[in-house]
Amino acid sequence: MTVPLDRAGAILTIDLDAIAANWRLLSARIGGAPCAAVVKADAYGLGADKVASALETAGCRDFFVAHLEEGIALRGTLADGSRVFVLNGIPRGTESDFVAAGLIPVVNTLAELSAWRDYARATQRILPTALQIDSGMARLGLAPKDVSTINAEPSRLEGLSLRLVMSHLACADDPAHSANGSQRLQFNRLRAMLPPVPASLANSSGIFLGGPFHFDLVRPGAALYGINPKPSHPNPMQRVVHLAARVIQLREVPSGAGIGYGQAGLANRASRLATIALGYADGWPRNAAMKAIFEGSSLPFLGRVSMDSIILDITDAPLQPREGDLVDLICAEQTLDDVARAAGTIGYEILTRLGSRFHRRYIYRDTEMDQRP
Ligand SMILES: *Cc1c(COP(=O)(O)O)cnc(C)c1O
Repeated sequence: MTVPLDRAGAILTIDLDAIAANWRLLSARIGGAPCAAVVKADAYGLGADKVASALETAGCRDFFVAHLEEGIALRGTLADGSRVFVLNGIPRGTESDFVAAGLIPVVNTLAELSAWRDYARATQRILPTALQIDSGMARLGLAPKDVSTINAEPSRLEGLSLRLVMSHLACADDPAHSANGSQRLQFNRLRAMLPPVPASLANSSGIFLGGPFHFDLVRPGAALYGINPKPSHPNPMQRVVHLAARVIQLREVPSGAGIGYGQAGLANRASRLATIALGYADGWPRNAAMKAIFEGSSLPFLGRVSMDSIILDITDAPLQPREGDLVDLICAEQTLDDVARAAGTIGYEILTRLGSRFHRRYIYRDTEMDQRP
């Protein structure tokens, strides 16, 4: 969804070339093993259809979404040769929808596995299937005893063509964490009890844990979108997102003026203010006291972030913004990860919340466009 440029309070620019470059960088790091793309939650809010087709053009053939509906939508934009895995499994009674859409479910429970196997039998089909095993995160996937059950009763896989056995790391962003090694050992122990099929363990940060974590397929999401997969190191990924908001009013206030809700801001001198058309309803965190950037200078927030607007102190800006000008909020000088840190959260949350009231613009093959042709 995009709002016409002349009516929008803010402009979100998404660099599909940078996403493709990030995918190539990760592919080069794993040398050989395929690099999938996680495009759940509308590609972390950036537009799954556009992101996935740019990545498919770059050579990516494996895509992961969270929900059946996301998978159905994505299938419509990808070629038949590309695979779409659905991480959250098979909602009861939707087996036929997976088959009709050509989706590969990631089966997480024995009950799902039974229903899927029964559907294969009833329709006399061989159904492509991924299995997730829980190697120590306790979120989704078969428990060790479930894997033993399958090992003891191979008929539970009858009619199913296993394409992938996967697990997920809980602490991959902390390379020193002992859970990484123990999850990898547990993953290897458990998958040895299943038929020998391609294996996958690493998300974005997992890729940077090194070769033993790469297995046969890696599943990055965040790093593709420019989030730093190696917190506390310089970000190896290209920046993907740029956010700018429009100045909709300027004013001058005397020293001592109270500013914004609760008059929580205070002009400690005669000040010039600019109000911009972006607020917490657009996904900007209310608790992040940040700045905007205009022509290289910082314009600090003054007072509270409102639902639809933020007040900036422009008193010291050598170049004064005028009404209608755009100021930058996510850019080289203030990254997604900076905003996340200031708000006490992670880049993932900032990205997935960025709003629907923006004008969205995509950069693809060095061309800027409002919608891809
Ligand atoms: C979301 C998700 C990923 C991608 O994780 P990032 O940290 O964004 O790279 C990979 N695998 C699973 C199972 C996920 O849920």
